[in-house]
Amino acid sequence: MRIGAIEAGGTKFVCGIGNEDGNIEESISFATKHPDVTMPKVVSYFMDARVEAIGIGSFGPIDLRPDSPTYGCITTTPKPGWAHYPLLGELQSRFAVPFGWDTDVNAAALGEVLYGAAKGLDSCIYYTIGTGVGMGVYTEERLVHGLVHPEGGHVLIRRHPEDDFPGVCPFHGDCLEGMAAGPAIEARWKAKGHLLPSDHPAWPIEAHYIAQAVAGAILTHSPQKVILGGGVMQQHQLFPLIREEVKRNLNSYVQAEEVLGGIGEYIVPPGLGNEAGLRGALALGWRALQKTRPSLMA
Ligand code: ADP
Ligand code: ZN
Repeated sequence: MRIGAIEAGGTKFVCGIGNEDGNIEESISFATKHPDVTMPKVVSYFMDARVEAIGIGSFGPIDLRPDSPTYGCITTTPKPGWAHYPLLGELQSRFAVPFGWDTDVNAAALGEVLYGAAKGLDSCIYYTIGTGVGMGVYTEERLVHGLVHPEGGHVLIRRHPEDDFPGVCPFHGDCLEGMAAGPAIEARWKAKGHLLPSDHPAWPIEAHYIAQAVAGAILTHSPQKVILGGGVMQQHQLFPLIREEVKRNLNSYVQAEEVLGGIGEYIVPPGLGNEAGLRGALALGWRALQKTRPSLMA
């Protein structure tokens, strides 16, 4: 079965074709420009691809409520041309196949549960710490949507005692994203994160913020695995710092061996590396196809 997958990111779009086993057979990627430039590239990629379904994991916020008049749209984004853009609708008008539609981070969480670091578990949370901070939540075999969808990048956090940086989130200033995403690192230290040495004071501060959000997510969602991806997490020295801070924050309150003893296996990088989003989008497409053809259900 040929299934299409789209990882629609704020920086780049990745389009691929794969199968029901979650394997990507081919893919392309291009920079996210105005939709008038980017969408024709997406359409042309799939035009002769003969896919039977397409799954989309999109940057957000997005409208995921099927009964909403703006279902399938990106909602509020500062990216030129993309605010209120009907991403799903535009593709549905071009391709008469079932579509899966979810956030990029929910797609990544699904990819990790099916094929990656959370394989075999029935819950996980997936954070991306990159240009922004996003959180996908999978629990009891479902991706969480709820009122809108989880927005764990914008939680409020306690300030590090040595940090007087005001934060860069246009909505909240010093929320997690405003303090810890890539642009916050760059604004605070006047250098992009990948240029800072691994023993730079940026990283304990970074871990202080990420760990607070992760500890909060452990308390509220009780995930069986916490996966941290995105460009900033290429700084692998962050993992031990975050794990220690999470333990300190929880202070033995959560009585689970995963946190108390085996935290090295509990807070981990994506098992699928940078393919989590695309393979999750592929799974969204496969699920959408199964819904329309119950004979395909496992
Ligand atoms: P996006 O979030 O736009 O999809 P990424 O996850 O690659 O893309 O995140 C990009 C952000 O991560 C940028 O702000 C960049 O400076 C930062 N970043 C990328 N690579 C690294 C790295 N190796 N170390 C620290 N920060 C990085
Ligand atoms: Zn915010």
